[in-house]
Amino acid sequence: MPPEALLGRRTGRKPRVDVRRFPRAERPVQQPSSFSQAGDGQSMIVVMKPGASREQVEHAVKRVEQLGLKPHVIHGTHRTVIAAVGDRRDEHREALESCPGVAEVVPILAPYKIASREVKPEPTVVRTGSLTVGGGTVGVIAGPCSVESREQILQTARAVKDAGATALRGGAFKPRTSPYSFQGLKEKGLQLLAEAREATGLAVVTEVIAPEDVPLVADYADVLQIGARNMQNYRLLEAAGRSRRTVLLKRGPAATVDELLLAAEYILDAGGEQVILCERGIRTFETHTRFTLPLASVIYLHEKTHLPVVVDPSHGTGHAWMVPQMACAAVAAGADGLLIEVHPDPETALSDGFQSLNFDQFQHTMQLCRRVAEALGRRLGSAQQPAGVESPA
Ligand code: PEP
Ligand code: MN
Repeated sequence: MPPEALLGRRTGRKPRVDVRRFPRAERPVQQPSSFSQAGDGQSMIVVMKPGASREQVEHAVKRVEQLGLKPHVIHGTHRTVIAAVGDRRDEHREALESCPGVAEVVPILAPYKIASREVKPEPTVVRTGSLTVGGGTVGVIAGPCSVESREQILQTARAVKDAGATALRGGAFKPRTSPYSFQGLKEKGLQLLAEAREATGLAVVTEVIAPEDVPLVADYADVLQIGARNMQNYRLLEAAGRSRRTVLLKRGPAATVDELLLAAEYILDAGGEQVILCERGIRTFETHTRFTLPLASVIYLHEKTHLPVVVDPSHGTGHAWMVPQMACAAVAAGADGLLIEVHPDPETALSDGFQSLNFDQFQHTMQLCRRVAEALGRRLGSAQQPAGVESPA
């Protein structure tokens, strides 16, 4: 099959890889690991009939609760489904099937439930202020590893915006490997990020490292970043979910993709609705890069989850000079967004300078990625701010 046919050009369809051309059996089967067994495998999806009334949905939700299961209502474009999470028994299934307006009740096979495509086949598009991730828009989150000073963050915010970034990143609370390294400006850093948002209109993405800090960080941030070191900090995941802020969840360097999805499930189960997954590289025996950046995980994640996936080529490679090409490769692999470290003067950065781009390099990277995105029928960066979406603080 010629590549252009694969990309849909001959058929005149949007140039996206059509996974239906690859029979399911030929695609790799998910290998169960001891951790992926953590799912109970017994939750269910209650599929409402098209046009089921609000009362019928509410009634089904009440029945789910009465049976001791936890309901999560998902309104798709064509149908409403209720994920009924918990211990299923066959009589539960029958009880729910007899509710008015219910089309069918099917078990959710994946260990993660609300994150699964079984529950929501259509991809989730995350929109927060200026940032759109998914739905054909490749969101670009750019900025320094750490917020260092007013001048540094304001200058960077303006530069990345001019180059087409749609959100500003910057750590105020830094999880550092050594306790003697710069730990971040903390609340002062959050205030500077809010000032940069005010000046540029860019949504702010910043890390939260402890459950007790979630309310403070959520007061300033549009997106709470949960870092690689904290991917399995379950109390933090729950606190972030309860805050209802959008969460960017980075993959742990030693975590499988299924563990990443189960971590996202904690956020969704706690009430979070907008979760962005981030592939940022894993630890392998290889030393030519800081981490190994597996882009196949983007493709696998798109198969298994409706949540959007962004790629961080900065931490994924650890070398500024490798970032432009890996950013392009991520877009080509179908990433819904990029997270890129940018600093006015990488040489003097207080953290991760060696992997940070200067303004000129970032602009160049954006030009390259834009061409790749457009060749594949997607847009890079600047989407219109959706009406009615307000920034916090
Ligand atoms: C960061 O984004 O600066 C960071 C600390 O990333 P990670 O959690 O992926 O190491
Ligand atoms: Mn960093």
